[in-house]
Amino acid sequence: MLASHSNLTRRILSALVAIPIMLGAIYWNAWSYFLLFLLILVLTMLEFYQLFKLQGASPLKFWGTLTGVLVYTFMFIYVQGLVTAQIFYVLIPVVALIYLVQLYKKHDPTPFTSIAYTVLGIIYISIPFALLHLLAFTQGFYDYKIVLSILYILWANDIGAYGVGSTLGKHQLFKRISPKKSWEGSIGGAILALLVSYILARYYKFWCLWQWLGTAIITVTAGTYGDLIESLLKRSMNMKDTSSIIPGHGGFLDRFDSFLLAIPLILAFSKAEQGLALSKNSKQPSPMAYMTATSMQDPNNPLESMMARLAEAAQLLKLDERIYHVLKEPAKEITVSLPVVMDDGTIRVFKGYRVIHSNLLGPSKGGIRYNPLVNLDEVKALAAWMAWKCALVGIPFGGAKGGIQCNPKEMSVGELERLTRAYTRAMLNVFGPDKDIPAPDMGTGPREMAWLMDEYGKGHQIIAPAVVTGKPLVIGGSQGRVEATGRGIMVATLAAMKKLHLKPQQATIAIQGFGNVGAYAALLLQEQGAKVVAISDLSGTYYAEKGIDIRQAMQHKAQHKKLAGLAGVKKLSHEAVLTLPVDVLIPAAMENVITKANAHQIQAKLIVEGANGPIAATADAIIHKKKGIMVVPDILANAGGVVVSYFEWVQNRSGDSWPQERIEMQAASTIQEAFERVYKVSKQYGVSMRTAAYITAIEKVTQAYQYRGSF
Ligand code: NAD
Repeated sequence: MLASHSNLTRRILSALVAIPIMLGAIYWNAWSYFLLFLLILVLTMLEFYQLFKLQGASPLKFWGTLTGVLVYTFMFIYVQGLVTAQIFYVLIPVVALIYLVQLYKKHDPTPFTSIAYTVLGIIYISIPFALLHLLAFTQGFYDYKIVLSILYILWANDIGAYGVGSTLGKHQLFKRISPKKSWEGSIGGAILALLVSYILARYYKFWCLWQWLGTAIITVTAGTYGDLIESLLKRSMNMKDTSSIIPGHGGFLDRFDSFLLAIPLILAFSKAEQGLALSKNSKQPSPMAYMTATSMQDPNNPLESMMARLAEAAQLLKLDERIYHVLKEPAKEITVSLPVVMDDGTIRVFKGYRVIHSNLLGPSKGGIRYNPLVNLDEVKALAAWMAWKCALVGIPFGGAKGGIQCNPKEMSVGELERLTRAYTRAMLNVFGPDKDIPAPDMGTGPREMAWLMDEYGKGHQIIAPAVVTGKPLVIGGSQGRVEATGRGIMVATLAAMKKLHLKPQQATIAIQGFGNVGAYAALLLQEQGAKVVAISDLSGTYYAEKGIDIRQAMQHKAQHKKLAGLAGVKKLSHEAVLTLPVDVLIPAAMENVITKANAHQIQAKLIVEGANGPIAATADAIIHKKKGIMVVPDILANAGGVVVSYFEWVQNRSGDSWPQERIEMQAASTIQEAFERVYKVSKQYGVSMRTAAYITAIEKVTQAYQYRGSF
């Protein structure tokens, strides 16, 4: 009895020591977690072979352990996407050959027995370990929190069975196989495992409750069976426990004896569950339903990037398929042709767009972009991003976006005014303070917004400042709107740096794009003590190791319209800004600048998306999973602009005017709170900040849809 108690204490203590170490490793990254388990694997395999050595057998201890390490490592790097599955086909004959050579060299009198014991070690330990990682990959993405969770359940079963069995156990389970196993102990283990799986279901939402409970039931049943097999094996070979590495019955090895059956069965269960979801025509769609709907044709198309991320979040949320199909389509798409008399008397016809993605949470809100590359897909993606952004930061707006295919840099002020007025006339019945509220975006600013407000007022015979935000101060604009997006980026960057334990005073920053967003983000971060070592625009990247004087750069840009010619800096190519060895990278120019092609070269520890969609969806896996870079996604990082736009709209409607400090404080706390919400969800689901931001936003829009009952 005393011995049983000390065994139980050892079991609990070893779990208590292991859990914080594992948690530490898990919150570091997948690689630290892998290395920790590699060490456990080696110790367990050595113990396994030691067990046979004590029986006078001669397994190939070194080669068996090495093969185990290779199988485990290859599985890990395979699920990380670094090698293909074919590597295993090469591994098997190479290992077989090595074994034959070793046996030949050893002059082993019982070569087949040695090989059998060696291979048994691999099958018994290394393959279940490796399968554990494959299991974590069955979601379509690798999540090592699944690995840890399964271990918790296994341990809970083990500790529960041992604890209850050694104190209350009276009725033996299978007397001849394992005299110590009792029904009471097995029930105790089952209860603890189910309890742990219930707790896991509350925190880790990549599986629903019944998947967690199903996993626990398999673990308890197959785990107990695996334990019995181990006992049977030892008994039939008349083997004693080793306890050579840590004390207790079976030492290290004993912690994993239930792996053998439990892991392959959980893997099969997980696969079967996915297959079931695929075949049944339920309202809970299978992941495949989302993926097929969004299979990417053009990885650089921002709309496809947006769709891929929406699909991933919908899949994790197990969103009702009907709602998913509603959310992915814009509510309204308008394309107009705008004839404008140019200064030379000719008439040019410009293409204009307005897309309203959704107005479920309130009137739609979104900027107007003037750029030669504007197209409907881009505007559709930007409109959807606005919808998620407003939902995420909790302002009562839906999402929209507009754009005109034009090059504002080549147009006179008169031409731009005529174009803006023509666009507004075409949208007279679309815009409205309670319908759809535009704002500036790339290529537009307060001046264009003033023309828009004026033309809208003339068309409706009213004065309606709340129809547009981002206006000049004197006609109803808000304090702090000009720098609002840059300020939001500063707040989000500092919040993320804190999580990464990066001190602003020691951090270096590179910023792509030196327009409204990039320049103010640079200025405000510099004011916080960070060193902005690189800035860029279309003319190139400008680098200074000691930091750039951002105020001087802003003056230079205002005067010369570009950064070229800035004093005291080294000029690099315009893409160089993305791959410099800095702590923080802020792409604040345009979408899809970071793709599969250049993602590998990024050296920053943190990317804060100033622009909308600067990272293509195809680069997500490299950035998040392979390189472990934290990304503060656009819909969170650059939401400061729309938050202050909302304040402007509130002021216009109430006829009030708020002081700058109030606006800055309220905007900063809105972004800070949204950041913390997203960070919490990312930990809860074990996903990137981007996926977490989508999950948070989509949950909110879905709720609005369900309350409004539009089916
Ligand atoms: P902007 O027109 O004021 O500035 C864009 C800057 O990026 C310019 O300096 C331009 O030279 C530079 N640039 C363009 N392409 C580049 C490239 N390939 N490499 C390097 N530099 C390049 O525009 P902005 O208002 O600062 O907007 C920038 C981005 O931020 C856009 O994606 C926009 O949708 C997004 N955004 C803007 C706001 C806002 O309030 N202005 C709000 C949210 C998101």
